[in-house]
Amino acid sequence: MSLTFTALPVPEGDAFLLEDGDRMYLFDSGGNQDRITKLLKAKNIDKIDVAICSHNDSDHSRGFIGLLKMSNNPIAIDEIWLPELWCTIVTYAIVNRDRVKVWSDIEKHLREEYNEENSEEWNGYDIDELFGNEFIYATDVGALMADINNIDISYSKKSSKNNAFTTFSRQYSSHPLVDKLNNIIRIVSLAIQKGCKILWFRNIKLPYVAPYIYGFIPLNSRPVCITKYGLYSVFVGYIKILKSKHFVKAVNLSAVNHFSLVFEFWKEIVPVVRFSADSDCVFKTHNTYTSSIIITAPHHGSKYNKQVYSKIHGNYIIWVRTYHKKDQVGCKTFLRRPNRYCVKCPDKNVFQEIHFEYQSGKWQPIYGTSCQC
Ligand SMILES: [Zn+2]
Ligand SMILES: [Zn+2]
Repeated sequence: MSLTFTALPVPEGDAFLLEDGDRMYLFDSGGNQDRITKLLKAKNIDKIDVAICSHNDSDHSRGFIGLLKMSNNPIAIDEIWLPELWCTIVTYAIVNRDRVKVWSDIEKHLREEYNEENSEEWNGYDIDELFGNEFIYATDVGALMADINNIDISYSKKSSKNNAFTTFSRQYSSHPLVDKLNNIIRIVSLAIQKGCKILWFRNIKLPYVAPYIYGFIPLNSRPVCITKYGLYSVFVGYIKILKSKHFVKAVNLSAVNHFSLVFEFWKEIVPVVRFSADSDCVFKTHNTYTSSIIITAPHHGSKYNKQVYSKIHGNYIIWVRTYHKKDQVGCKTFLRRPNRYCVKCPDKNVFQEIHFEYQSGKWQPIYGTSCQC
């Protein structure tokens, strides 16, 4: 059975295709709503078995909006894997959409801003502090989520609905928080409309003996919940309830690089791909690889994540870096890796697709040239 890996020139952000036999996986979707769809159509891909969204940074998540819109594209997505934090945020917004007091309480916390400049300060936050003791069972999440279309997500569009959430999102339509919130709600609601199965992953600090899900092993999260989906009922658990004073924090944390979901993909008995997303990889897990593996450079090879190159060891690692326009991206430590590929070398004006095939236990480059930086 063939296994291939492709880094797509989306052009900015992460978007990786993994084809294993007749199954197609998409890890992140780049920052452009239309580009990912065009690239997949050009490859005659009409079905993604599992789409994974690592976190709420637009350069990883925005493409999913275009991809999930049913009207303009025929690409089916069977399952989508999302951070549990998104589920708690959406659930909270649905349950409290009409409660004026809740949204005025939330307003008081809007200054807890997160942006590229202060993103490091948010890394140490403990997600568990967002929650009280209340929770809802996973089996009830489905019913709540079915109601998602009743929260108004399009603040730019005139709407007859006039609930407290709508008022809030209109009033702060230019606030980055509302932008992040709308991104989450749009992806979740489109996934529901499209009939995707949704599997949520909870960030964890300690190593967890994870089950394979297809060939994937989550390294810093574990699946918590999926409603009524056959095999996956084994994961049915509960979703913790956010406190309103932590709502803003939760939405901000949804975009913090540190909490990006990281997965390994295994073939037979070895890990063959590690999808790092933007994670700083400080979570406790094994980091020594003894066989051929593709590792996506965290945060597009950013110097902020340079410590990962001293943590991750192996003589047969192929590093793949995607493009990000921010100038702090591109660290010298990455450039010392012997075997590396860039979707776009920052100094060159060329975007390329990078494609590997797994043959006899080794990744072979099929097209795409190695890094010229
Ligand atoms: Zn990124
Ligand atoms: Zn390069």
